[in-house]
Amino acid sequence: MHSNPILILLGLIGKKVTADAAHELLQALLPQDARIIYNFHKALLRHGQRICVFERPRCEKCPITDLCDYYQTVVKPQ
Ligand code: SF4
Repeated sequence: MHSNPILILLGLIGKKVTADAAHELLQALLPQDARIIYNFHKALLRHGQRICVFERPRCEKCPITDLCDYYQTVVKPQ
């Protein structure tokens, strides 16, 4: 799994984390179940295509604003 910008916005990984380090961090966070990891990866890709679009996230349509560091610290306070 690469260092997806959504993972940074959500606060799951830091901005300067390498792809290899991101992979290890996510492995530690997710259950060691191939199907769950695959579904997480697929959901992340879909979320990035439909809602959390690179450089123009559509936060007003996002169902996980309560889990998102970017929303809670940048979007919501405005
Ligand atoms: S709240 Fe915004 S930045 Fe956070 S995951 Fe949703 S669309 Fe992306």
